[in-house]
Amino acid sequence: MKQLNRKQIEQRVLDLLDEHDVTSVPVPVERIARSVGLPIVETEMDADVSGALIRSGNLQGIAVNASQAPVRKRFTIAHELAHFLLNHVDKDHVDWQFTVIRRDGRSSEAEDDQEMAANFFAASLLMPKDILRQDVELHQRFDGEIHLDDADIGLLAKRYKVSEAAMKYRLQNLGFMSWA
Ligand SMILES: [Zn+2]
Repeated sequence: MKQLNRKQIEQRVLDLLDEHDVTSVPVPVERIARSVGLPIVETEMDADVSGALIRSGNLQGIAVNASQAPVRKRFTIAHELAHFLLNHVDKDHVDWQFTVIRRDGRSSEAEDDQEMAANFFAASLLMPKDILRQDVELHQRFDGEIHLDDADIGLLAKRYKVSEAAMKYRLQNLGFMSWA
């Protein structure tokens, strides 16, 4: 199956936010997951497991490692929702921590693509481009440059209920911050 590119994924996310009448943050990712038919179960898992998309038999849902931080749980739910909506898998799928960074041969290259797509979808969903742009523009100076320091990123991360690392990466990805 052909992978969607970034622009197409951003559009899928905008449509999804629209369908669920989401116009503010934090994005109610659990409500969205439930309403597309994915109940969420928090359960004890190995420390290096983030969560899983369950699609075996008649059962369907998202399992989340109960011991993760709340912001990490939200990202995991968004990531599993992405696998579901992008039709990545038709059987159970388990996500380890830092799947994308792993290079231990656990996943094939095609799977890595799907992991990156799911991460991009999750970031786009939890930090919607248009809402984030409005927030970031509050930091724009008269010379047009945007200046965000660590405290600003911390506040944004709190507002969107995401980790500071995820917020920083999203800001850099959208060109609101340099990669330096
Ligand atoms: Zn995954």
